[in-house]
Amino acid sequence: MGSSILTASFRRSGENNALHCEGVPLARIAETVGTPVFVYSSAEIRLQYEKLKGALEGIPHRIHYSVKANSSLGVLAVLRELGAGVDIVSGGELHRALLAGFTGDDVVFSGVGKTAPEIREALRAGVRFFNVESEGELRAIDALASEDGLIAPVAIRVNPEVDVDTPHEYTRTGGRGHKFGIPYDEAEAVALLATELANVRLVGLDMHVGSQLTRMEPYERGVARLLDLVELLPSRARADLRWLDLGGGLAVPYDVDDDKVDLGAFAAVARRAARSSGLELVIEPGRFLVANAGVLVTRVLYRKRSGGKDYVIADAGMTELLRPSHYHAHHGVERVEEPHRAEIETADVVDVVGPVCESGDFLALDRKLASVEPGDLLAILSAGAYAYVMASNYNSRQKPPEVLVDGNRFGVVTDRETRDDLTRLERTVPAWRE
Ligand SMILES: *Cc1c(COP(=O)(O)O)cnc(C)c1O
Repeated sequence: MGSSILTASFRRSGENNALHCEGVPLARIAETVGTPVFVYSSAEIRLQYEKLKGALEGIPHRIHYSVKANSSLGVLAVLRELGAGVDIVSGGELHRALLAGFTGDDVVFSGVGKTAPEIREALRAGVRFFNVESEGELRAIDALASEDGLIAPVAIRVNPEVDVDTPHEYTRTGGRGHKFGIPYDEAEAVALLATELANVRLVGLDMHVGSQLTRMEPYERGVARLLDLVELLPSRARADLRWLDLGGGLAVPYDVDDDKVDLGAFAAVARRAARSSGLELVIEPGRFLVANAGVLVTRVLYRKRSGGKDYVIADAGMTELLRPSHYHAHHGVERVEEPHRAEIETADVVDVVGPVCESGDFLALDRKLASVEPGDLLAILSAGAYAYVMASNYNSRQKPPEVLVDGNRFGVVTDRETRDDLTRLERTVPAWRE
């Protein structure tokens, strides 16, 4: 059945024990901005960042936040202030990073399918390095850099081919046969090619083995394979090596019973990797920094009973939060107003579903919720990562706003989409051509 995780930044307080984000009642945000709405705690993001930074103290490293987890400009600005760099996977993310005040030097460019225009943009922005995922991409970067008279710094993303035991197969990326990275037995040849091409410089080796990792073995085994590769390279290929990029994947708990990542154990792996390679580390956490810093606040529209099941129909669904439907992910659900004791005792087991015309449109299944009535507000927890960024306009629904909280203040960082936004790029009569 599962239950909820309330971090220090989301807690009940005040007379009626209402759910707050830092000093702000979630109900007040819902009343001001409407529902559904994503609410992010800047304090929680800072806390997670400082925890990781603290654990890695004394190890030469850079933290490059993985923008795809939550690419809101408001969130990016919080991370930039903390001193983070970014890890991007598209030209669109580069655009966002630059708008949020990051410079090219703050950027590492990953991703398996970089297009020529994206590579050109990144070269001109002066990104710190490209994580290269195939020989073809390496040759494309070399050719494009040559056109501009530039030398592109590259790291080889190696598929370390380690077994990864993440909660869902879609979040495993570093196993044999995955589309990501260069197959281990070809990595040496591609690294050598990088030292031969005139307009690239081999500055690092990289891996990203998966997401929601709690055990350290995949990191450990991956690092060992990267280090083996360094040993294989002739000294001319090692001359400019500076970075060992361990990727992202640090887990967060979504449920009270979930394993938590042991940052001390991670730091131990990182310390050994830095020592034995003599290289500086790059870490690309996404989820770890933002997942539990966000909630999705939704209002209950209706209740109904069908086929022996109780349904709570909310004004948010898979269009706002796809993870339950796409990954069968668990998200805690809390009433924003504290239910009375009697209500808790008579709690029903319900499915919390959205308004989208799709049977896979649910937020939580078989959850014990104290007498939820139409009009009540619910907070769907752990909605800071892979949530808004996966929102869609399916059923012509408008994307919700994003609100950032800092202490006793809150402010909209993304407006709710308007009806005009829905059709802005469309026309009823085609722009005919012959
Ligand atoms: C998605 C991704 C990350 C971040 O993963 P998390 O599980 O959110 O930490 C880091 N690096 C790369 C290359 C990625 O694709």
